[in-house]
Parts: sequence; structure tokens; C-alpha cells
Amino acid sequence: MELNLDSPVQYLPRVGPILAAKLAKLGIYSLEDLLFYIPFRYNDFSLTRPISQIRADETVTVKGTIQSFRNVFTKTGKKFQQMELGDDSGKLTVVWFNQPYLSKIMKAGYSINLAGSTGWFGNKMVLSSPEYEIIMGAGDEVSLHTGRLVPVYPETAGITSKWLRGRIAFAINKCKDKLLEYLPDSIIKSQHLADLRWAIEQIHFPKNKQNILTAYDRLAFEELFMLQLSASEQKITWQNEHRSQKMLIKNEFEDQFIRSLPFKLTEDQLSCIVEITQDLSREIPMNRMLEGDVGSGKTVVAALAVFLIYQNRLKSILMAPTQILASQHYQTLTSLLNPFGINVQLVTGGSSQKFNNQADVYVGTHALLSEKINFKNVGLIIIDEQQRFGVMQRQLLSNKANAGLSPHFLTMTATPIPRTVARTIYGNLDLSVIKEMPTGRKMVKTWVVPQEKRNDAYRWIEKQISKNNSQTFIVCPLIEESENLVSIKAVTSEYERLKNDIFPGLKLGLLHGRLKTTQKNEVLQKFRDGKIQILVATPVIEVGIDIPNATIMLIEASERFGLAQLHQLRGRVGRSDKESYCLLFTQNDNPKILNRLKYLESVHNGPELAEIDLTLRGPGEIFGTMQHGVPLLKIAKMTDLPLVNRAQTEVKRLIDEDRTLSRFPLLRAKLKKGKIENVGD
Ligand code: ADP
Ligand code: MG
Repeated sequence: MELNLDSPVQYLPRVGPILAAKLAKLGIYSLEDLLFYIPFRYNDFSLTRPISQIRADETVTVKGTIQSFRNVFTKTGKKFQQMELGDDSGKLTVVWFNQPYLSKIMKAGYSINLAGSTGWFGNKMVLSSPEYEIIMGAGDEVSLHTGRLVPVYPETAGITSKWLRGRIAFAINKCKDKLLEYLPDSIIKSQHLADLRWAIEQIHFPKNKQNILTAYDRLAFEELFMLQLSASEQKITWQNEHRSQKMLIKNEFEDQFIRSLPFKLTEDQLSCIVEITQDLSREIPMNRMLEGDVGSGKTVVAALAVFLIYQNRLKSILMAPTQILASQHYQTLTSLLNPFGINVQLVTGGSSQKFNNQADVYVGTHALLSEKINFKNVGLIIIDEQQRFGVMQRQLLSNKANAGLSPHFLTMTATPIPRTVARTIYGNLDLSVIKEMPTGRKMVKTWVVPQEKRNDAYRWIEKQISKNNSQTFIVCPLIEESENLVSIKAVTSEYERLKNDIFPGLKLGLLHGRLKTTQKNEVLQKFRDGKIQILVATPVIEVGIDIPNATIMLIEASERFGLAQLHQLRGRVGRSDKESYCLLFTQNDNPKILNRLKYLESVHNGPELAEIDLTLRGPGEIFGTMQHGVPLLKIAKMTDLPLVNRAQTEVKRLIDEDRTLSRFPLLRAKLKKGKIENVGD
């Protein structure tokens, strides 16, 4: 069978279905995936010496002949393996530990290459646990594991770097000719990029260190370039394929709404409103993201858009990720819009209210998708805090009414995305940002509380509650990734402990995602009414819950959260003019972790914290736990601003030059195949 880049990796000799399943865990499905599986470091075994010149404590490759090999048992019952190696210049002892199977492979008389570090074993200088490569005959001289810069890959059970090296070398050999350069020549030239084929060869089996950098630059550039190109394609497609009704926006309507508010809008809110109303008055549907910290006042901005849509005799839909948030939005929109005679309806799987076609605004969860909403009359869809909003958008558009007109889309998020990242991954959306918080908000005083101060902190909270009538959130992290039984059990037993042992005199409540909607709402209402003083909860409370009276936020095992996520949680308090506090608990005393958490004591800005976390922990960590839709880069770093900019420049130039990529069929094919998923997919 002829192998090509798309061939499933299992058809590679010495792979098969079992190993293929293991490779799938590393995200490797096709031969192409294998070729793009990039080493995370290299062992420098390029120094080769004759035995007589080897010194202690150096990393070296030796080529020689096996003189003898044996398993040795020590008096304490441990096993090690000892080899005598010889070359023209002398003899060397080599040891391995607990690898008895080596005696089946290593036979006296074999030629072998060994690479590793030398050290002392007793009073003898030895080569310890080296990589080995047995030379069977002619054609075997090309070393993969010794005598060179040797790639080391992220491994998984049953898949070693050594094995990967062999398979990757084989795949490169077989498929090299099929790796066609798809980046336009002009970009290769202006960015001084290496050719694809060369880059793949050299990233795995580099001739020297400089080649690693050159290959890396090419592959990382390509990754960011394709990501941005795909975002920009999506934007163009959106603009070409969708038409919407132009809204008639009258200033007097806007003024009327703004005058009805009990507060003055911030400058940022006002400029977001300008951007949104401009979009609404065009016939290309809006596709905009509204980004702002928790409590920055996004909902009011969205409500104004709903109001304007209503003035144009169209309906709006607001979709939230959870029932709690949906009912909160429902309350907010009702209080803002009801005075104008606008009829808001809540649609959630759990609500007893029957769907009614007469409402002007529908607020709900996914349940909205299954209702028979007449989309012909829908002018605006707002999606709040949904990672996979692209999927949702397509689903909603597929319901689109016959008129062929699309609703306008507004996505809201409080996830603080660093600017560099936003520009790369949300390139298909227009972005409006609310940076400043409404005035009157106080900074939440934040402390990292070490283990030994835990009890003092509990007593302090008790005092705050009795003295100042404070209300407190205690957040326990999920034990496992989702809100499954294990996690629920953990938060429930922590609740019991707090109630019985720590705060026996106070009124505690418990909130987690497995409660029924009516139960959740009941608990929240009690908390709102002050009938619960301490609310113990899972991070379900992360997004959007608005309880202005709560002033203390205690977060357990805070090291498990990202800084930006902690900041979001902290945003649940400090929502009135009362002094508010955030206590970060951790049982971990690793100084690195404590220092990371301490950033929250001094930094009170979401995007800045996200940026700090990005440099401290990398995007995988942050987005892995937070943002499912965000594409994980395999090679490039989101924080590599110069590279992000280079890619962006070339995307712009290319699109200006040839918007349909008609002159670059290979690039177009690659884009279409696009493993790269944009946010929202
Ligand atoms: P977000 O959705 O961005 O988290 P909200 O829209 O829920 O924030 O607003 C949080 C709170 O702040 C609400 O109680 C809202 O009424 C209030 N708020 C919004 N804008 C302002 C403003 N400009 N001045 C004062 N309070 C505001
Ligand atoms: Mg909100």
C-alpha cells in the first residue's frame, strides 16, 4: 500500500492498531500528524570520543564492540546490568539499572553506539544508563539515537522517544516527496523562511543547533499564519454570505433608554454602544465580541442593543451557559426593559413557564435551540460566556428564516484574554472592550492565606459576619474536571465540616451544579435575602452571579485555578461600595506557587493577570482548564508577539493581493483541510 500524508498512522510498519490507539492519545492520527509531532528538547550527543579520551561528567557518544554483558545482583537484592565495551583505544564499563531484558539484546561481539553521561560507580568511571544503538550491518550507520543532536518527544505510556524517532525517521523517508511547499513564494522570501521539507527533517534530526532554530521559525510562523488566515477567511465568508436587516437607529431611542438608567454609563460602555449601533445599522450582520471584566457592565450595553432591535419591531435572544445565569439575565433585562412595555421571557429546560411566541425577548439556555422560535423575526442573538459559540452560531443560523436575512450576533465574555492572544484567535470577530469599572467600586483586598493562618481566617470571617453583617462565598474547586459525583461529594463534605465544626453558629448554604434549578434558585434567593450568611459553592458561581451584599470571597485550593479565573471569582464580591475581601487558601507551600498567587494581591486587572499567567504557565495550562474552544498551538507561542505580528502582516498582504487565494491552490487546500480550529468551533 502506498503511504501518503493522510494515511492513518497504523499502516506504518511496526505500528498497527494497538500502538495507533496510544499515538491517538498524543493527537497523532495520520502520518502528517506524526511528522508535525515536534520534539520538546534535544539531547546533545554530538560529541564522539574514543574510549581513552572520555572523562568523568561529560555527555558523550562512544562507538565500540561489546566484550561482555551480565546481570549483577547486589547483596541487598538489587539488580543492575554491566557491560564491558572496547574500542581500539581502550575499555569502558557501562551500567544500567533494573533493565535485565537488555541481556537478551546485547551479545558479545556486536558493534554498538552508546550515548549518555559518564559518572562514578564506586571508584570506577562508568557510562551510566546510556541510549544505545546496535549496528547490524551496512545501511545502519545513520544514527538516530547517538552521535548527534537527538530529539526528545513528549511521551505517553507505551510510546517512548526512541520508538518515535524510528517511526518518524521512517515516515520522513517515505513521505518526504509529498510534503509540498504550500506557503506562497513571496512569503517564504520576505520572511526568510526555510522550505517545509527541510524544516520537518531538521526539526526532528537537526544537523546543528542553528538548524533547529531555523526550522522552528518556519514551523511556528506557519502555525500562527494559518490560524490568522483561517480567522480572516471566516470573517470574509461571513461578510459575503450573510445579509441582515439594517436597523433604523434613532438617537431619541438611545437617549430614552440611557435616561432610564439609575447610573451614568462609563466612557467605555458608551464607546462600545457606538460600535454596536454602527454595526446594527449596516446590512452586514454584526459579529462582535464584547469583552469586559466581571461587573464592568456588559449586560446594560447588551440591553440597549435589545431595546434598539425592539424599536425596529424585531425580537432578540440571549443565550447563557447555565440556568442560574439565564435567570439572572432574565431578571436584569426584565427590570431594564419592562418599563418600556418590552416582554421578556425565560426559556430553560427546567422552567415551568410555557414557551410563548408573543415575547419580544427570549432569555435562556441551550433549551432555546429546541423551541419553535420564529427566526424570521429575530434581529439580534446575544451569546454570553459560551466557549463554543461558533457551533451555536451555525446551529442558530441553520434555523434561519426563509427571508435569508441573518440576525446580528453579539458575544459577551468576561474571560480576560490577553490582547496578543485575542488578535490571533478572535481575528474573525470585531472586538469591543470595556476596560474601566463603573465608579464607586472598591478594589477587593486580597490575601494569600498560608495553611497555618487558616483558623485565624475563619475567626476573622466570623467576626466580619457578626459585626458588619458581611456575606461570604466559600469556593471549593472541582476535584475532577467536571462537576461529577466525586466533586459534588467533596464540596458537600466540606460544607458539612464548615457547618458543624467551624461555623456552628452561622447559617450556611450549599450550591453546586447538580442541584435542581428550583433548588439552586432557592439557595441563591436565600443568600440574596441574607437568610444564608455563608454560601459554600463549586466554581459554578464563577460567571456572572450578582449579589451586591456579599463582601468576602474565600477560595480553597486556589493554586488549582488560573490567575484570571481567580480574578473572575473574586469579581463576585466588591460589587457595592462596601469594603470587600478575597482570601486565597492553599495547602501548597511551594514558593513558586505562592508567588504566582501573590500577583492577585497587587494586580486587579483581568487581562493583565491573564498575561502574567500566560508567561508563568503557558497557554496550554490556562486554556486547557478554562477555554475549551481555544486552539492549542503545537509549536508557536501565543506570547511570541514579533512572530504574531509577522504572521499578521503576511495575512493582510496576501488577502489584499488575492482574496480568494486563487493563485495558491495548495494553501487553499491546506486551509480547507484546516486542523486548526478557531475559537468558537
Ligand atoms: P457584567 O455583565 O459585565 O459582569 P453587569 O452588566 O452585570 O456586569 O453589571 C454589574 C453591575 O453593575 C450591575 O448591578 C449593573 O447594574 C451595574 N452597572 C452597570 N453599569 C454601571 C455603571 N456605569 N455605573 C454603575 N453601575 C453600573
Ligand atoms: Mg454578566
